[in-house]
Amino acid sequence: MPSYEFYCRHCKVPFSSQMHVKEHDERVAECPRCHQTRDVEKRISQVHVVTSKKS
Ligand SMILES: [Zn+2]
Repeated sequence: MPSYEFYCRHCKVPFSSQMHVKEHDERVAECPRCHQTRDVEKRISQVHVVTSKKS
């Protein structure tokens, strides 16, 4: 199971969580500190994101 990076805006801390790819598509992980998902956002790691060029 891959590990994904998240960031909690409430706690202002990044964290990682293991979840299935499908889960990651549908939702975010729960913050280990405040135990909510409302202020959690996904972080893209390991993948170098460049401005997409749609031709
Ligand atoms: Zn939190």
